[in-house]
Amino acid sequence: MRKVFRFLRVLILGSVMSVVACKKVSLPETPVVPVETSAPASEKVVVPENAKPPASAAGPDTKASVVVLCYHRFEEKPKDSLGLPPAEFERQMDALKEHGFTVIPMRDFLLWRRGEKALPEKSALITVDDGYRSVYEVAWPILKAREYPFTLFIYTNYVKGQPNAGGQSMSWGELAEMRDAGVDIQSHTVSHSNMKFEKGKWASKYKTGEEWLRAEMEVSKKMLEQKLGIPVGAVAYPYGVHNQRIRAAAMDAGYEVAFTTYGQRVSYHTPADQIGRYAIESGKPQIFEDAMRMIGGSGDAGTVRTNASATMVTVPAEGAVVSDPQPLVKANLASLGEVDAASLVVRVSGVGKLDVKYDAVSKLMEARFLEPIRERENVVLVSGKSGAKRFELRWTFIYEAKAGEAKAGEAKAGAPELRVPAASPAAVPTEGAGSVPGLPAVPSR
Ligand SMILES: [Zn+2]
Repeated sequence: MRKVFRFLRVLILGSVMSVVACKKVSLPETPVVPVETSAPASEKVVVPENAKPPASAAGPDTKASVVVLCYHRFEEKPKDSLGLPPAEFERQMDALKEHGFTVIPMRDFLLWRRGEKALPEKSALITVDDGYRSVYEVAWPILKAREYPFTLFIYTNYVKGQPNAGGQSMSWGELAEMRDAGVDIQSHTVSHSNMKFEKGKWASKYKTGEEWLRAEMEVSKKMLEQKLGIPVGAVAYPYGVHNQRIRAAAMDAGYEVAFTTYGQRVSYHTPADQIGRYAIESGKPQIFEDAMRMIGGSGDAGTVRTNASATMVTVPAEGAVVSDPQPLVKANLASLGEVDAASLVVRVSGVGKLDVKYDAVSKLMEARFLEPIRERENVVLVSGKSGAKRFELRWTFIYEAKAGEAKAGEAKAGAPELRVPAASPAAVPTEGAGSVPGLPAVPSR
């Protein structure tokens, strides 16, 4: 039995209009109500004046592209790469407009995906993960001033009063205040565990991994829906990590779309269970620049070029200094989806191709140097195919010979400087202000 009462609430925020359909929840034991493909007449979507007419008459809108940006914290002096200075955030928000992007609300994104709404050809979706107070205090005023809609991905254990709450947590009251002002709120699971490793704090409470994954997906959805009286149709995988089982759990829990942290141009045809986002990090302006170039820019549209994200746990880490002239190079490619092992190529600047191995089960890539490093600054380029799309990842590490040995690069003095983004701290940042376990280290094989 499904008793669903719906009503419309129209919130006008400048030119932005979002329609929130709330469900009266009597939670079923069995799988969640499937997504309806066509809305009943009573639920007709009100189209803002400045938007294109609904696409339903002309079929789905396959022309539009969306770039999805992912932020975490906003602070003057970022304590790791997940914090962004407010001035830099403001610069990026202005740059969106300068590059001709229209910032759209999640509601429009979902309608577009259902084939019920057209979008501006260059659209952008702004998302902020975890639920730090700095989004309320710092980012919100900046977004409000520009009349940009945005989405929060909240992991429910981090909300004030919940088991993993910390000093930077937001309260249910603050979330309700943001909801009332038209801010969209979606799920980032319950415990923010790396669900691939099944070592989350909750995992021991469940008989099977599947049961645990279901709880991570469903309990967070229900809690947000019940506490805030909202529909929750989107989830962001913690650390962007996903595999077949995690994606299935997300879809089975009734989410319409699930987001990764694999920056890409999102089209109407992008698989719903792996919508890529550009995870913006301080000290890596290249990531935002890549996102801006992804739509309508030059360059081959077929290849997604991006910096390796923190979640890939690269070895050597971004910016790390090594003394071994032939270090083992590793990365966790889980966030890229199903990588075609045969397509994988690893190159290092000044050296060329490495000998690469890839484990399709663990998604770990390992590459060995066939000759020693020559340069001080080394750019790793990992390219290959994931599904129909090509990707190219890069990161940089430093080689410094131990005292007494010849310094790399001395023989090649005058070699042109490589243009690479400034190195960020070598450490793998942990999300959640230390209250959340970081991604486990890449196990050695
Ligand atoms: Zn997160």
